[in-house]
Amino acid sequence: MQRVPHPRRLIALSLCLTLATAPAWLGAQEKKAAEPAPAEPEKKELRIIAFGAHPDDPEFQIGGCAIKWTQLGHKVKLVACTNGDIGHWGMSGGELAQRRTAEVQEAARRMGTEVEVLDIHDGELLPTLENRQKIVRLIREWKADIVFSHRPYDYHPDHRNVGLLVQDAAFMVMVPYFCPDTPYLRKNPAFFFFPDGFTKPYPFTPDVAVSIDDVFDAKVQALDALESQVYEGGATGTPETRAQRFGDDPVRRLAFLKRSWSSRHGNLANRFRDELVEWYGEEKGKAVKHAEAFELCEYGSRPSQAELKRLFPFFD
Ligand SMILES: [Zn+2]
Repeated sequence: MQRVPHPRRLIALSLCLTLATAPAWLGAQEKKAAEPAPAEPEKKELRIIAFGAHPDDPEFQIGGCAIKWTQLGHKVKLVACTNGDIGHWGMSGGELAQRRTAEVQEAARRMGTEVEVLDIHDGELLPTLENRQKIVRLIREWKADIVFSHRPYDYHPDHRNVGLLVQDAAFMVMVPYFCPDTPYLRKNPAFFFFPDGFTKPYPFTPDVAVSIDDVFDAKVQALDALESQVYEGGATGTPETRAQRFGDDPVRRLAFLKRSWSSRHGNLANRFRDELVEWYGEEKGKAVKHAEAFELCEYGSRPSQAELKRLFPFFD
C-alpha cells in the first residue's frame, strides 16, 4: 500500500525545495536608500562627463567641445574605462598603463579638464553589475548634466561595452535604492553618443553638430600629449611609425598631427553639413571646417531644442 505523506512532511519538503532554489527576496535585508544629491537651484555651471574605452578616446571624440566648455567656465571630466595596457605594438602592462595615464593627465592639463583612468585591463572590459555600479557612482559624484559614451555598435569590444554600461547607467543614476552609498541624481542627465562610421544596425545620426574651428589648434595641442598613440601608432603601429610621424621633432610632428586631424574633423563637417547649417544657419554652417557631432541616447533626459542650446552654449 502506498503511504500518503503527512501534510506536515509535505510542508517541510516544499520548504526545502524553496530554500534550494530560494528567490532573491527571501532572507534579503531591507535596502537602504541613497540620499538625494543636494539641490542646486540656481546652478549655471554645466557638468560634463565623457566615458571612453581607452586613454585617448574621450580626448579624440570631444576634445574640441571640452575646451569650449572649459573656456566658458564649465566643468568637464574625461574617464578612460580601461587603463590601456595593451594599446601599443612594442610595450604593455603596468609600464604602458602608467605612460598612457601620464599622457591623458597632460592632455587634461592642456584642455583644463579633469581626467580619471579606471584600473581595468585593456581589452577585458565587460558589462558586469560591478562596472555598471562604478559608472553610476562616477556620474552621480560628478553631478553630471551631460554624459557621453561610444555607441554600443562600435568595432572594439571595450567601446561596445562602454556603450552598454553607460546606457545602463541612464535612469539608474536616479534610483535611490541602487548604489545607496552615493547620493542619487534628481534629474536624468542628457546622454550622448560619439560618432562612428558603422552602419549596422543603423548609422550614427547626430542631434547636435558643433564647429570646433575656434579651438582646433588647442585640441591638436592637447592630442600632441598622447605620444604613444598619435606618434607611435598605438596597438597597430610599428617600430618605424615614430620616425614616419616626425615623433622626435616637436614642430614637424605637430604639423603632421594638425594635417591628420584637420582631415578627420573636415570629414565630419562635410558628413554632417546639413546639421551644421541647421544649427548655425546657411552662411556660417557652410563655412565650418572642423566639427564634432553627437547623437542623443533615448534613455537619458530628452532635451528640447532650447535645452540643447543651453547644454551646448556654442551657437550665438
Ligand atoms: Zn578605444
